Amino acid sequence: MTDETPVCSAKGCRAAAVWVLAWNNPKLHTPERRKTWLACEEHREHLSQFLGVRGFLKDVVRFEEWQAPEGA
Ligand SMILES: [Zn+2]
Repeated sequence: MTDETPVCSAKGCRAAAVWVLAWNNPKLHTPERRKTWLACEEHREHLSQFLGVRGFLKDVVRFEEWQAPEGA
């Protein structure tokens, strides 16, 4: 992570992040813990489905509206 413009988490994608996907793997994380992936418009659905089918996806919010929880 750097201070530069955040980019999409999809493999090989360098597009600017527009969405934040908040997720939690109950086997690894406490229930209130949130991992985040960033997504451009193009990859939001793909990444959401990846997490969704595993039951990990908790929230999808616009990047500018995302407020990382304390300590994340
Ligand atoms: Zn992307």
